Amino acid sequence: MNRSEQIFKGIAASKGISIGKPFVYRAEVPSYKVDISPAVIISAESEISDYENAVSQSVKELKKIFELAKEKLEEKNLQIFEAQLSFLYDEFFHSKVKDRIRSENKQAFTVFKEEIQILENAVVSSNDEYIRERVNDIEDMKNRVLRNLLKGRLVSKITENSIVIARNLTPADTILFSNRNLLGIATDLGGINSHVALISRSLRIPAVVAMQDISVNITSDDFLIIDGYKGIVIKNPENDTIESYKKLIEKNLEFERKLEELEKLPSETKDGKSVKLSTNLEFNNEVDYVVTHFGCDVGLYRTEHLFMELGDFPSEEDQYKQYKFLAEHIYPKTVTIRTFDIGGDKILPESQKELNPFLGWRGIRICLDKKETFLVQLRAILRASAGGNIKIMLPMISGIEEIKKTFEYLEEAKQQLRQQNVRFDENIQVGVMIEIPSAVLLADEIAKMVDFFSIGTNDLVQYTLAVDRDSSLVCEMYEKFHPAVLRMIEMTVKAANKNNIPVSVCGEMASDQYASLLLIGLGITELSVVSTAYLHIKRLIRLIKFENAQKVASKVLTMSTINEVKDYIEDCFNKNIGEKLNVSI
Ligand code: PEP
Ligand code: MG
Repeated sequence: MNRSEQIFKGIAASKGISIGKPFVYRAEVPSYKVDISPAVIISAESEISDYENAVSQSVKELKKIFELAKEKLEEKNLQIFEAQLSFLYDEFFHSKVKDRIRSENKQAFTVFKEEIQILENAVVSSNDEYIRERVNDIEDMKNRVLRNLLKGRLVSKITENSIVIARNLTPADTILFSNRNLLGIATDLGGINSHVALISRSLRIPAVVAMQDISVNITSDDFLIIDGYKGIVIKNPENDTIESYKKLIEKNLEFERKLEELEKLPSETKDGKSVKLSTNLEFNNEVDYVVTHFGCDVGLYRTEHLFMELGDFPSEEDQYKQYKFLAEHIYPKTVTIRTFDIGGDKILPESQKELNPFLGWRGIRICLDKKETFLVQLRAILRASAGGNIKIMLPMISGIEEIKKTFEYLEEAKQQLRQQNVRFDENIQVGVMIEIPSAVLLADEIAKMVDFFSIGTNDLVQYTLAVDRDSSLVCEMYEKFHPAVLRMIEMTVKAANKNNIPVSVCGEMASDQYASLLLIGLGITELSVVSTAYLHIKRLIRLIKFENAQKVASKVLTMSTINEVKDYIEDCFNKNIGEKLNVSI
């Protein structure tokens, strides 16, 4: 076995360094139990009970999806769900599986897979083309049952304190795994602003994405260093390498400790311009830290995590409890709750998945189509707003009609609560994410309808440049310093200023020190940053003069290439700030 040190390069997606053992995760074939030798005695009854639970959970999920898809899909496509459901209700099939688990003392996982394979073979060899095409749906249903069968067990299988290596991770995987104190995440696929990267950053887990083939080059016998600053993974490092990384970890910790001195100092530039600094929030375990260390507003609370953790839309009561918990803990500061920004890929079956989900059924589009689901969320937010410190933010706004329709629904939700004498903030502020170029072009009109703008640069970059934020193939082209992106931001700020509404940036660009200098110079009044970047950005704000930031921004707006912009900003940092900020552009 080759144990010599080997370096794998990817894209740095979440800062931090860890040293430890890998956990190699293969999502496509959820087969961790398959390697258990047949000699292992299993409890047939507990296997059967797991199997029954997995089937009933799958029925529940499918019914929900069926209901959601009803209005979107043609009648003929809906039959897919009916077929999948009727299969899940097929007691004959289930008793065959259960009988075999008992008589052969095999795991549910294995027996179910074998029995489904028999079914798939029959379908594939059918003379009827329509029936042959159903094989994808059987696959879809099979994976759903297997996933549910393995869900809880898989997570507990991940060794605590390991570095997860995977081909790709869904945001739901990442959230699930995060309960196991991960040391890091390295994936073959993924882009710097994919949702997995964002989640890793907010969980403070070092992550490297777009590593191409790391998942086939690491085995559980290896030992790793993951460097989320440089975007590398070192396999079986030499002792010297380990020692120098240990020193680096210590140095970084010291730097972080020093940053804590800034916690109580104001967020203002050297020439006295105050820049509002708030934080993005994803998980409840960050709340206490944010309150005690930063005491700031929450500029973006992404509610889709509630959906992802549950695999379903949470009930009004559950949402209400969650929003109330946040509002009460953050009080008197405010929480901006963004309504569900779920992609259609999360709720459509395999055979109905869109070719371009980022251009498809996503965010406000789903909410407006699924009026009841949206009303549930709006009522939950309104009920939690009684203390007056909640704002509503709408994602993926592309035009005026969506805002008008949302306001109609919001009024309906308010009316329902009034009729029940339920208290809520009658003057709750409603703002929109500016993250689609059409919204930038209409920003003047939109600004007249809403209370605030928040620029979602993660999507604005993707939609302006037509570069998929999740794709590792085009990640070099995903560029926040592209002159077109900067002009989009400038246009948005102008429209906001003209209409006297505040404009923040809650995309990742605000958490980047070079970019935030530019954003401040462009006239952004609030930066909502990931909590790990909060003190770094405060430090930057306190190191610069607003007057200079404005000069830098005006100069940059005259430039027409990415390189000119980047070289110039780097130069300004080196000359004017005088101190290296521990980052590279
Ligand atoms: C954005 O697009 O910049 C944003 C903040 O939203 P998300 O990353 O959740 O799409
Ligand atoms: Mg977005």
